[in-house]
Amino acid sequence: MDAKATLKQMTLEEKVYLLQAKDNWNLNGVNRLGVPEIYVTDGPNGVRAASNDLSEGYPSTAIPVESILSSSWDEELLEHLGAMMAEECHKYHVGVLLGPGVNAKRSPLAGRNFEYYSEDPYLSGKLAAAMIRGVQGQGVGTSLKHYVANDQETRRFTSNATVDERTLRELLLAPFEIAIKEGKPWTIMGAYPKLRGTNLCENAYVLKDILRDEYGYEGVVLTDWGACVNKVASHKNGLDLETGSFARAKEMLDAVASGEITEEEIDTHALRVLELIEKAVAGQKIVDEIDWAGHHALAKNAAAESMVLLKNSENTLPLKKGSTVAVVGTFAKEPRFGGGGSSGVRPKQLDAPYDFIAAMADVSYAPGYDSEEPNPALIEEACRVSRDKDAVIVMVGTTSVSESEGADRRSLALPASHLALLESLAKANTNIVVCNFSGAAVELAPVAKIAKAILHCGLPGEAGGSALAELLFGDVNPSGKLSETFPVCLEQTPAYPYFPGDGDEITYVEGLFQGYRYYDTKKIPPQYPFGYGLSYTEFTYSNLRLSNEHLHSGERLVVSLDVTNCGKMAGSEIVQVYVCDPSSYLIRPEKELKGFARVTVQPGETRTVDLVLDERAFAYYVPHLGRFAVESGVFKILVAASSRDIRLEGTIQFHSSDEVRRPLTLESSMAEFYNDDRYSEVTRRIYAELQIGEDHPIFPVLSSLRLKFLPEVLAFIQIPPEVSVPYQQCILNAASANKD
Ligand code: BGC
Repeated sequence: MDAKATLKQMTLEEKVYLLQAKDNWNLNGVNRLGVPEIYVTDGPNGVRAASNDLSEGYPSTAIPVESILSSSWDEELLEHLGAMMAEECHKYHVGVLLGPGVNAKRSPLAGRNFEYYSEDPYLSGKLAAAMIRGVQGQGVGTSLKHYVANDQETRRFTSNATVDERTLRELLLAPFEIAIKEGKPWTIMGAYPKLRGTNLCENAYVLKDILRDEYGYEGVVLTDWGACVNKVASHKNGLDLETGSFARAKEMLDAVASGEITEEEIDTHALRVLELIEKAVAGQKIVDEIDWAGHHALAKNAAAESMVLLKNSENTLPLKKGSTVAVVGTFAKEPRFGGGGSSGVRPKQLDAPYDFIAAMADVSYAPGYDSEEPNPALIEEACRVSRDKDAVIVMVGTTSVSESEGADRRSLALPASHLALLESLAKANTNIVVCNFSGAAVELAPVAKIAKAILHCGLPGEAGGSALAELLFGDVNPSGKLSETFPVCLEQTPAYPYFPGDGDEITYVEGLFQGYRYYDTKKIPPQYPFGYGLSYTEFTYSNLRLSNEHLHSGERLVVSLDVTNCGKMAGSEIVQVYVCDPSSYLIRPEKELKGFARVTVQPGETRTVDLVLDERAFAYYVPHLGRFAVESGVFKILVAASSRDIRLEGTIQFHSSDEVRRPLTLESSMAEFYNDDRYSEVTRRIYAELQIGEDHPIFPVLSSLRLKFLPEVLAFIQIPPEVSVPYQQCILNAASANKD
């Protein structure tokens, strides 16, 4: 199929039909010209394979949801999982898998945080790019979503996000930017809310200026289901395709007839849709048989790499095989494996933790809870079962009702029934191991007081149960590290109390200070920091080498270090590199993640890790330049085991070709000229000539005023305009004079 040639043969009506879907899951084709319909379905936690008449999809491999998968920090793993899902897509004739999602995590309360990778834009973007490469490498498209500022569920259709430009660029857009540039998704899904007063599916600033002109995106922009509020305005402002069952062709044809939109404009969008269909057709493969067991094994490996060991006092874990163990909690037999809503997957084979723990130990079971309300009889039974056992494994977490698309959580607390159970169990047995199942951070402070060991399992997909047993009994060494901060309590979180906004108005009051950027800058100790996770072995970091002491624009820095496994068990360590800009013209968080690597090290072995930082690793968005730029100066390179555990530190001097400081104008204050080294020499000389030292009574008044009023102010001390006006000009010219 040749998209351009096909477009030439199409009627206006046929083109208009291409800009809307045929039904919920199929895009329109052009029968007459042999252009097929394309089937799209939800991802990225597995292939939902929904059909219009089936509420539940066909079975597929449910992988860990994004929020826990990201704790693996493993791009290669995500590429493999992407390729695996693509194979299942081929089986179900899916042309585009709707995912991954990379929205920001302003608050752990946000109902769909489980569908997004990380609170850090770099980690999110890198993992999304890997997932996209994996899926698309096998000839199936992806849809990067929800573009952009769709960071909560409350009033998601009607709310309006007010975000300052740096927060928009550095936090909200950055993961999209990385995933778009490195992953090249075939489609991007526009979001429901408004940004700065304009619906996101008709927002020319994000759809045209940023996406097309700045990022150079060439694929299809489609809507989230029901996100196209004004059909014609949306297409005029950058939308290519409206999804879902919305029949609005007539509206479009009328708009062409009235001249509101031209056929040329429609051609641009229709061509992109044709090119998408062309790619999907070229990528089609016949897959009858799936190696379900192999896919299950990959999902298990992903779950095992992702779970995070948060606490392990007295080396409680790993448990001894054959020991006596009480397994408590309904989740042990009815596993929590995925989140609620459109990304739900019907798992092909679901592993219950109980079955796999029972294969390793002498196990007794008690359900412990049957709802969110404590059940005294079940608690009593659980205590009875737990007495005299070597250990008690307790399954806690959020429920499928509390964590789902469409609603934000109201609290970070675990269900009252789980907390009451734990408190009682603590009196029956002191060896408590807690396994937490949740798609986002929960309050673990009350759990940490009781449990000797805590393993955060997230929503680990269909093989979470078997992966968990292998971690608990030491067949696999835990290696996941948190991709989001676990706060002590809700009141500590950066967007509290502004989330989820005042009615429809959402203001990103916390600005650049989301996640660890907030806790670290404000020196607030969270319960478990970003990047944190324990292992059954110990790693030491040594021998930091930086390729350059001085870096110039366009150059890259190679950060090398050695990681030694000084314990007795093989393990994987996730090394993180943060960049700290100790003094900057504009406000910056204390540090930002700019590189990471996962390295497997045998006992006694030392491995070298090399990480490359490019210019962007040092840059921030400079509003008056309208782009990212680097400020000259000293930067600290922090090599860390978590955002709160810096192991090695070095510095470099960056010599930037950018000037990030605003040029000063007649409207700028005298103090700004006095302190800015582009102007200070001249300004200070003039102050001296006027004999206005820093202890002169007029000094503070003069300094606080605009340069514009210099003559008027100096007139008070009898300095005539013949003197003051040339001074004024001389100060104003100083920056350009310095440049020459
Ligand atoms: C969700 C999307 C999803 C779509 C199709 C929407 O409600 O926001 O993420 O892809 O439904 O199921």
